[in-house]
Order: sequence, then C-alpha cells, then structure tokens
Amino acid sequence: MSENKDINNIANRLANAQEIIAQTSEKFNRLPNAVKLMAVSKTKPNTDIIDAYSAGQRIFGENYAQELHDKFLALNNLKDIEWHYIGPIQSNKTKIVAEAATWVDSVDRIKIAKRLSNHAKELNKELNILLQVNISQSETKSGVLLSEVPEFVSQLVNLDNIVVRGLMAIPDKHEDKQLLKDEFLAMKTCFVTLQQQYSTIDTLSLGMSADMNEAIECGSTMVRIGTAIFGSRN
Ligand SMILES: *Cc1c(COP(=O)(O)O)cnc(C)c1O
Repeated sequence: MSENKDINNIANRLANAQEIIAQTSEKFNRLPNAVKLMAVSKTKPNTDIIDAYSAGQRIFGENYAQELHDKFLALNNLKDIEWHYIGPIQSNKTKIVAEAATWVDSVDRIKIAKRLSNHAKELNKELNILLQVNISQSETKSGVLLSEVPEFVSQLVNLDNIVVRGLMAIPDKHEDKQLLKDEFLAMKTCFVTLQQQYSTIDTLSLGMSADMNEAIECGSTMVRIGTAIFGSRN
C-alpha cells in the first residue's frame, strides 16, 4: 500500500489544525501551547466526536442546548471531555446547559448568569464562563459592548459556583483583514486589563476556521474550529 493519507479523516484534519496552530504561534512569538483548540462538533454525529476523542481531542463546542445535552448523556463514558456551550442561551434552556456544560462561553446577560449559577449550585458543580462581546457592534449579534465589559464582569464574579474565565467574540465577516485584527486587538486589550484585576481570567476565545491565524496573531488563547476538522455542515 502507498501512503495512506485520507484528508477526510478526522484525526488527520485535527493533526493538521494543531500543526497550523503550532506554526502560527511560533511565527507570532506565542508561547508553545498558549493556544488551545476547541473542536466545534455542532450538527455532527457522535461517531465524529468519538473519532476526534480517540485522536486525543478533549475540548468540544456545541451551540444548540438540546444537542449538547443529548451528546453529553450519550458520550458520558468518554472521560475528561470539556464541553463548551457556545450558542445563544434562552432562559428555559439554562438548566440543561448547566448540567451538560463544563464551560458556557456565550454569557451576555446577568439574568442568564444568575440562572446558571443557581443550577450549578444545585448540581454541586462549578461552571466556567466567558462573557461574549459584540465586538463588531452588530445589531444582529449577541454579546455585550466592549465598554460594558468591566461592569458586567464585576457583577459576574460575585455569583456562586461560577468561575469567570474570560472573553469570547464572533466578529462580523470582514473583507478587510486589518479591520478584523483591530477588533481582535481591542478584545486583547480588554482581556489583559481584566487579567490584572481578576486572577481567574485566562481565556480569550477568538478565531474560527476562516480567521484562526489572525486570531492567534492577536492573542487568542482558544480557537473554535468546526469545518476544518469535521467538514462543512448542511
Ligand atoms: C460554528 C461555530 C464555530 C466554528 O465555525 P467554523 O467556521 O466551522 O470553524 C465557532 N464558533 C462558534 C460560536 C460557532 O457557532
């Protein structure tokens, strides 16, 4: 047999994503392992998650509450999976999200954070959270404005069973890469300021399949990659 390299293989695509992260990190003088890889498995079958897990992947992102919960239950035997909820959160879904998630990366309302805190207390667990920032100030996007972040975080840190770990953003699609980088850098500045104030803050979640290199250049500590690992979604 000749070289058996199937580019459709999830393990190969994962290795490829890790390689890009390593190379880009080196290029922009990021410390080795400063950037973590989240595999965004939304809409993909459990068998795909098992393939990625078998290849060593542990951080997974989902953005539909019921789907996250179903996968969490079905894959409960896979130890040490770190489930991130990255979708919009409705009040009536906070309970299943709190049960399934290790992290909730899309918090943008105090009311939702309070509900997550109460559920986490009942479940006797700690929930890691990221505050989602509407960095492009888009009317259609969830998230708080950058200027509102300090006030929000000061309220979030008082909630029981919640650990505030940092910030997340999904910028608008920009043709202009410099505009994209300016937004990422504004996130980074805000993140660094928070880090000086709160010891738990260590995560800046920026970058998806299409803009991971710019995100790593600008200081992301966690890229969220779906398509480049699992293929395109229907
Ligand atoms: C779907 C999704 C991703 C992954 O996007 P790809 O372009 O497939 O890499 C990342 N972050 C969030 C919040 C998502 O909803």
